[in-house]
Amino acid sequence: MVDKDANPLKSQFEGQFAKAYDYDLIVIGAGSGGVRAGRIAAGYGARVAVIEGDRPGGTCVIRGCVPKKLLVYGASFAGEAEDAAGFGWQIDGLSHSWSELIAAKDKEISRLEGIYRTLVKNAGADLIEGWGRLKGPHEVEVGGISYTAERILIAVGGRPSTPDVPGLAEHAITSNEALDLKKRPAHIVIYGSGYIALEFAGIFNAFGSKVDLVYRADLPLRGFDMDVRQHIAEALKDRGINLISGRMIAEVKKTAEACVVTLDDGTVLTPDEVMAATGRVPNIEGLGLEAAAIETDARGAIKVDEWSQTSAPSIFAVGDVTDRINLTPVAISEGHAFADTIYGGMPRAVSYDAVPSAVFSQPDIASVGLTQEQAEQAHSHVHVFESRFRAMKNTLSGRPEKTYMKLIVAANTQRILGVHMVGPDAAEIMQGMAIAVKMGAKKSDFDAVIGIHPSAAEEFVTMRTPRS
Ligand code: NDP
Repeated sequence: MVDKDANPLKSQFEGQFAKAYDYDLIVIGAGSGGVRAGRIAAGYGARVAVIEGDRPGGTCVIRGCVPKKLLVYGASFAGEAEDAAGFGWQIDGLSHSWSELIAAKDKEISRLEGIYRTLVKNAGADLIEGWGRLKGPHEVEVGGISYTAERILIAVGGRPSTPDVPGLAEHAITSNEALDLKKRPAHIVIYGSGYIALEFAGIFNAFGSKVDLVYRADLPLRGFDMDVRQHIAEALKDRGINLISGRMIAEVKKTAEACVVTLDDGTVLTPDEVMAATGRVPNIEGLGLEAAAIETDARGAIKVDEWSQTSAPSIFAVGDVTDRINLTPVAISEGHAFADTIYGGMPRAVSYDAVPSAVFSQPDIASVGLTQEQAEQAHSHVHVFESRFRAMKNTLSGRPEKTYMKLIVAANTQRILGVHMVGPDAAEIMQGMAIAVKMGAKKSDFDAVIGIHPSAAEEFVTMRTPRS
C-alpha cells in the first residue's frame, strides 16, 4: 500500500491556483522520455500538452536507435551471405541498393512517427507543434503563443557535438545525416570510437564501404572493460575496418572530388565522407533556461535531484538533457517515475545500478554492471571468469571471429558484479543477465543453472575456473 502523503513533492504544488494554468503539465520534447511522462501523467488525469518542434518520436525513433538498428539489420545480411557459402549455399550476383534500404527505413520511421502522434492523442494530451521556449517557471512560448502550466517537464534530449577542429563541423556529417545519405560513401572516415562510431563503422563496412576509424585513445570504447575493448578492436580489424588509434584529426578540407582529412601526424586520408561521432551534448540552446533560473553543469546538462526536479521547483527534466545515463530506456524510466511520483501518488526514483547497454557494432557488445577495473577499485578481491571461443556457426562458415564472455565476481560475497560479452546476439543475451545481476545473483546461482545446448549463452553458466 503506497502512502500518498509520503510523496515529498506533492504538497509543494497543490494550491488553490492550480486550475488557473492552461495545463497541469507541459512537456517540452516528444521523444521517448517526454512522451512516456506525458502519457502516464494524462492517464492519471492530468491535463497535459506535449510540445515538439521536430518530428514526434525524438532522437531514438527518428534519428537514433530505431533507424540505426534497421541499418544494422540490413548490414548483417552481408556477413550472413559470406557465412552461407560454408553451408553449401552459392549466392551469385549479390547486390544491394542503398537507396531502397533508405526508402524502406524512411517509411518505417514515418509509421512510427504516426504511432507517437497517436500515443499522445489517445492519452488525451495535446500535441503542440513548434519550438518551446521558457518564459518563466510556469510559462512556455511556442510560435508567439504563451501556454502556462502548473509544472513543466523538459525532455529535449541531446545533439551531436563536434570538436573544434578546422573544417570538421563544416564538412563532417554526424549520425543525423549518416542515416539519410542519398548515396553510400565508397570510403568514409569516422572520427571517435564510442557507441555511434562503432555502430556506423560496422554498418558502412558491411555494405562495402572502406572505413577508417580514427580515434585518440589506444583502444575503442573508453569506459568499457579492457578485455572487451581489446577483443572488439581485433574483431573490427578482422571484419576489415581500418583502425587508426592514438590519432586526432587536425584539419578537414573539401575539394570537388573528395574530403581531405589531415591527421595530427601528417597522414592524409581522402574519403568521400567524414563522420564525426565524437559525443553528444544536452540540447539546451534556445530553451530559455535563464527565464526560470534553471541551473546547468559545465557540459550544459540541466541539474536535477533524484526526483528529476530542477533548481526551479515547478520544472523537472528527464533524459539526455540531464546527462545521467544517456540511454532511451533510462529516459523512459525517468519520465515514468516522474509521472508516478507527481500524478500517480507513487513516489519512486529511478535506480541507476546495473543498467545494461549494448553497442550494435558487428559483432555486437553488451555489458551490465562493473568493468573489471571498476570492480577491482570497489572490492578488495575479485574473481574473473572468461571464455573465448569460436562459435559453432563459424566452424563451417570459416569465419575466424571469436566470441568473448566475461564474469566478474566479488571474492568475498560471490556476487556477480559485472557481465560482458562481445559476439553475435550479445544484446539479446545480456538482457537476461541484467535481471540476474539486478537481483543480486551469486556465482553459485549461475553454476546451478543448466545450459541451453548448443548455444553461446550457455557459456555463462559453465565457466568453472577463475582466471589466475
Ligand atoms: P561516446 O561518448 O560514446 O563516444 C564519443 C567518442 O568521441 C569517444 O571515442 C571520444 O574519445 C571521442 N571524442 C570526444 N571528444 C573528442 C574530441 N574533442 N576529440 C577527439 N575525439 C573526441 O559518444 P557517441 O557520440 O558515440 O554516443 C553518445 C551517447 O549516446 C553514448 O554515450 C550513449 O550514451 C548513447 N548511445 C547509445 C547507443 C546504444 O545504446 N546502442 C547508441 C548510440 C548512442 P575518448 O574515448 O578518447 O574520450
